[in-house]
Amino acid sequence: MITGDVNDPVLVAQPRALRTIERLLEEGRAHALLLSGSPGSGPVAAAQRVAQRVLCPNGGDDDCDVCGRISRRVHPDLMWIAPEGSDLAKPQIDLVVETTTRMPFEGVAQVVVLEGADSLSFDNRSAGNTLLKSLEEPEGRVVFVLLATSPARVLPTVRSRCVEVVFPAVPDALLVEALRADGVDEGVVAAATGMDLNGIARAARGDLSRAREIAAGDTAAQRRGDLLVGMHQVASGAMAPSQLANRIMSRAGAASDAAAARAALEFDEMELVMSDKETKTFNGKTNDEGREKRTARRARKARVAELQACLAELSSWWRDVLALSVGADEAVTNLDRLDQTRAAAAGPAGTRAVGALDAIDDSAARLLFNNADEGVTVGALVAELAALAAGRIRARRTLGAGARTPQGYEVSLG
Ligand SMILES: [Zn+2]
Repeated sequence: MITGDVNDPVLVAQPRALRTIERLLEEGRAHALLLSGSPGSGPVAAAQRVAQRVLCPNGGDDDCDVCGRISRRVHPDLMWIAPEGSDLAKPQIDLVVETTTRMPFEGVAQVVVLEGADSLSFDNRSAGNTLLKSLEEPEGRVVFVLLATSPARVLPTVRSRCVEVVFPAVPDALLVEALRADGVDEGVVAAATGMDLNGIARAARGDLSRAREIAAGDTAAQRRGDLLVGMHQVASGAMAPSQLANRIMSRAGAASDAAAARAALEFDEMELVMSDKETKTFNGKTNDEGREKRTARRARKARVAELQACLAELSSWWRDVLALSVGADEAVTNLDRLDQTRAAAAGPAGTRAVGALDAIDDSAARLLFNNADEGVTVGALVAELAALAAGRIRARRTLGAGARTPQGYEVSLG
């Protein structure tokens, strides 16, 4: 059972989506699943459970060697593909098509997980159309699991061949419950993060993995602290913009190094379980894209992801400033920084928050899609944010009809 003995709180918080997936698996209708929602709100964990359910000889006990290798993504009948850069690339999809026409290595089935399936959009049609062939004519038993944050962007032809399962943002109360079930010590967490569990839930914005990371005081919490404090200091003139930009770039560098090290370990393990010939086949026909190249792509992906995560923190600081400046106090996400954002909202930053949010969005898009020079883009962005906060430049847009609300939705404020 996909729902039985699940101890991952991300999944505990999504019983409805899991029941739907289980039913589809039982009825043999899970050939192509589209799991939509923020990755940390359940889709990634659910995709792993689907793979275990399909490939494990015990139906997904989460306890055997097969399940263990699936959770480490080193099972040869599991293809777990994520965009290398901004989009799922045509060669990646070609490899999927080729692999799924062959027999499974170990078991009776293959599972293909595609992260970032929303990049199979109109702008990336050839990759999407290639995948279509596999979705239409399954050779053997193949289960496709597509993950998308914005399912509306997936090519309609691809989307219509999938059964969509929605993972909604996890409500704050459930996040708190899940953290308690994790055995999180509220006193320790409060001392380390300066927040109670409700504050952590709010800061996690419906994403349980993020809530757990913040509570655990690891990467996400450090990043959040680093960036929110840095943004406040830059906005109040206590820190040079270049210093915050350097902080962001060095975080990205560290993420990249860690990903390269992880990739090396995984490749070692994969080679241990497969013969030379199999390794070559699995890696691609010619294997000329060897480990180094693949490792470099994984490292780049981690770097871009860290940059995006840093920019998301800067956004959350400015969203709070915007919320406070329009009196929408209940929309504030970083409750532990309220004094700082309130002070900023009372100054020039308050009337320039929309412009700052636009500038951050622009930079995030440029980093994702245009292969922009990362250091230059981040440096220019932080300098612009500093100038906006100090009132030295005007916002490019002002709050009015059709403008951004503190929640980030495009609505008319009348
Ligand atoms: Zn198992």
